[in-house]
Amino acid sequence: MSTTARDVRSPDPTQVDTVPPGADLRGWLEHLRKDGRLSVTAPDLDLTFGVAGLANRMDGSTATVFPRPGGHSVPVLSGLLSRRSWMAEACGVAEDALVARFDDACRNPRPWHEVTGALCQEVVHDDVDLTSLLPIPTHNEHDSGAYITAGLLIARRPDTGVQNVSIHRLQVSGPDRLGALLLPRHTLALFDDAERGGEDLELAIAIGTDPLTLMASQAIVPLGQDELEIAGALHGRPLDVVRCRTNEVRVPASAEIVLEGRLLADVREEEGPFGEFPQYYGERARRHVIAVDAVTHRRAPLFHTIVGGGTEHLLLGGIPREASFLSHLRRSFPCVRDVHLSRGGVCRYHLYVQVDRPAPGEARNVVLGALATHYDIKHVTVVDTDVDVHDPTEVEWAVATRFQADRDLVTVHGTQGSKLDPSTADGIGSKLGFDATVPPGTTGMRYTRIRVPGEEELDVASLVRPAAAGWHEHLTASSGR
Ligand code: MN
Repeated sequence: MSTTARDVRSPDPTQVDTVPPGADLRGWLEHLRKDGRLSVTAPDLDLTFGVAGLANRMDGSTATVFPRPGGHSVPVLSGLLSRRSWMAEACGVAEDALVARFDDACRNPRPWHEVTGALCQEVVHDDVDLTSLLPIPTHNEHDSGAYITAGLLIARRPDTGVQNVSIHRLQVSGPDRLGALLLPRHTLALFDDAERGGEDLELAIAIGTDPLTLMASQAIVPLGQDELEIAGALHGRPLDVVRCRTNEVRVPASAEIVLEGRLLADVREEEGPFGEFPQYYGERARRHVIAVDAVTHRRAPLFHTIVGGGTEHLLLGGIPREASFLSHLRRSFPCVRDVHLSRGGVCRYHLYVQVDRPAPGEARNVVLGALATHYDIKHVTVVDTDVDVHDPTEVEWAVATRFQADRDLVTVHGTQGSKLDPSTADGIGSKLGFDATVPPGTTGMRYTRIRVPGEEELDVASLVRPAAAGWHEHLTASSGR
């Protein structure tokens, strides 16, 4: 493999020195299979609800392959990364190093390496009929129809060639037409620029990418930073990309399936409803439209689907956000030690922040800083280092015993929030912060957590056994001797 001058970087101690297990999709599936973490379902499950229902039932236990879904020759795949520990494993690091590893990749991206001739272009279809080419499932009860949910939408600025990667829900609206929800982030910014000039925006949609590229697509980094370069950093080597056949977009060369197309200027069509990560339906509205110009894929491709609101969906957004938020907060607040996006807060809305002895007033500044890191963050809770920030019960305990609303509540109204939070007014709503830290300057035993000396060190297995029948008499007999 050739490298460019931009690839040369000094060695970094946080880099993994072997190819991580998640660097290749089929390799990852084989990795999971070896210790019983890959299931194959009965064939011919219904593409409408049948695949999604079983995917939900298997959520968090194994990855699952669905052969002949709806009689289709292309199998569906779900649940590749449905545990935090699996994501760490895919990256080749311990679970407690996952967030740091991801943050390191965001700070030290690796430019991609362009190849000609790629697996993702082994088979080419210029005549596009999406539902006959691909097994696209319908997930939830009130969804408007079939949706592509695990497609990495790669858009490219025509003037600079800089790319952006993100995942959007994509409704099958016609044989070569998709409806897309573009939330107010990077894809929309690129499209708005193109549309102002009367131009369509060229893009590609990569389905069935390796797990590290899938994770990288969710990085919260500035517009202008290509998430495929973060994928390269997670891989420990530049990501191989290939130019699309009908446009200038570069896509991961090993993707299972690639749709090439354009976001259409001055076209909006009905899209939705669709079951989303907050476990509600995103409503039907006139939204952006993608024309698909070509479909390419590997021989015998796999079609990845992510069912809305499942663990894979939540964690894929959650882990990269934790990495970005921790890094962002530490820049402004040296007291910040760790962060966690809770499952109950759909890994988006509820951020817990752990701080070490904040100065008077500082915990409230941490709240304000945290609320400003991403519009999705709605409720922030700040806790001390004696509270396990990754355990929601611990955080609730801190709120229960260290928080007083008249003193410790931060409220900000009329702010931008998540449009997918049904309690907002089209995304406009309130933010709350809970300072659940012990007030600075507190003395004495008032907030000292109870503990039994020596409890943690006890070897319970050697000291305790199940009670046998007649245990009471035995006790009496024993005590009598
Ligand atoms: Mn971006």
